[in-house]
Amino acid sequence: MNQHVVVIGGGVIGLSVATSCVQRGHQVTLIDATPSTRGASLGNAGMVVPSHFTPLAAPGMVALGIKWMADPESPFYIKPRLDWDLIRWAYRFWRSCTAAKVRRAAPVLRDLHLASRADYAELAGSGEDLGLAQNGLMMLCKTRETFQEESETAEIARGLGLNAEVLTADEAAAWEPGIRMDIHGAIRYAEDCHLDPRRYVASRLAAFDRAGGESIRDVRATDWRMEGKRIAAVVTTAGEIAGDQFVLAGGAWSTALARRLGLRLPMQAGKGYSFTHPSPRQSPRICAILVEARVAVTPLGGQLRFGGTMEIAGMDERIDPRRVAGIVKSIPRYYPEFAVEDFEQLEPWQGLRPCSPDGLPYLGKTRAVDNLIVATGHAMMGLSLAPITGRIVASLVDRQPSPIDLRWLSPDRFG
Ligand SMILES: Cc1cc2nc3c(=O)[nH]c(=O)nc-3n(C[C@H](O)[C@H](O)[C@H](O)COP(=O)(O)OP(=O)(O)OC[C@H]3O[C@@H](n4cnc5c(N)ncnc54)[C@H](O)[C@@H]3O)c2cc1C
Repeated sequence: MNQHVVVIGGGVIGLSVATSCVQRGHQVTLIDATPSTRGASLGNAGMVVPSHFTPLAAPGMVALGIKWMADPESPFYIKPRLDWDLIRWAYRFWRSCTAAKVRRAAPVLRDLHLASRADYAELAGSGEDLGLAQNGLMMLCKTRETFQEESETAEIARGLGLNAEVLTADEAAAWEPGIRMDIHGAIRYAEDCHLDPRRYVASRLAAFDRAGGESIRDVRATDWRMEGKRIAAVVTTAGEIAGDQFVLAGGAWSTALARRLGLRLPMQAGKGYSFTHPSPRQSPRICAILVEARVAVTPLGGQLRFGGTMEIAGMDERIDPRRVAGIVKSIPRYYPEFAVEDFEQLEPWQGLRPCSPDGLPYLGKTRAVDNLIVATGHAMMGLSLAPITGRIVASLVDRQPSPIDLRWLSPDRFG
């Protein structure tokens, strides 16, 4: 039965959901608070990552976070502040950093990423120009210790059926002829790939328009009008919008709207930065993560994007030049052909990642409301998981079973 689906949030997640629903014949209205796609969705590193089967909340992260607190250029930082939401989130994050929870999450994340990767490949195969490069991802390790740790993770990856190759520095160099790298070794994840997030957003916007979707921009959702346990309409700065099904896909801003429904959706914004060199001295073919520095490197056409940091500092969209400097300084350590000065004139971009305390998305229906589907909390994986998220939500709208088991992703899991 065709329904009127109202999607709140026009980032990669909201757009993917809206497009999947409209392509299944539903009437879809997409609302976004900004005039054009903003949020975290455009300047990200564009990586599609089955290799990321370990959520952010993993053993060792709390100790690492504490160690990095004092370093203004560190890649992970929680700004200390007296805020109950942050304190509760930090407590849940700490509780989630167990080997058992990570083991439980791994196959779910693997399945989501692989399904999404297949969707991207299908889209590109149908002629959509996403800049998709299906040539893997390299985890570049500078030190023997990190290489050892990453080799152990590669072993777990292989246990999960992923193709993870442990490479010496020379073997890694053979994958990137002409690129000078100063590393101890690398892991290559063959199933990973990268694309240009701007092209994906443009492709979804065009597909949504073509299929007759309605896009309402520069309008903020502020509240809900309820009829019993059902949402009758979302209240916005431009009046009410009624619908049959509502999808909350507002990224890091979703918590406040969920709270108006009595739904507790703990999240913190994880700010990250990127900058894109228009004509780099060298450009690898394969996207890479500089492991110790936690920096992502992505070739985008002739350009080269660097992204990193996870700064838990509230809904603060200001750019901290010290953290950007931390990313810049790490680059010549792995790619000695580059100099810090190469990046001086580049405009940094920032985005707020929607981070749940256990590092897993909130995906599915909630007990709190009959006609709400939640699709947020994708943290560092929103681009990677966008197509499958769209497909899952569209299945739920159609009252069909989700193609992936959603048990551990329930929006109700924190009460
Ligand atoms: C530096 C960096 C690098 C990254 N690299 C990768 C990567 O390589 N691979 C990957 O998978 N992920 C990556 N990510 C993460 C990814 O960017 C995010 O997970 C993803 O963009 C989240 O998408 P979203 O649609 O949920 O949120 P957003 O993109 O933030 O979109 C949310 C939208 O909702 C709108 N909105 C919010 N509240 C309201 C409201 N009340 N009313 C109306 N509209 C509202 C906002 O205006 C916004 O447009 C990276 C992130 C950063 C910062």
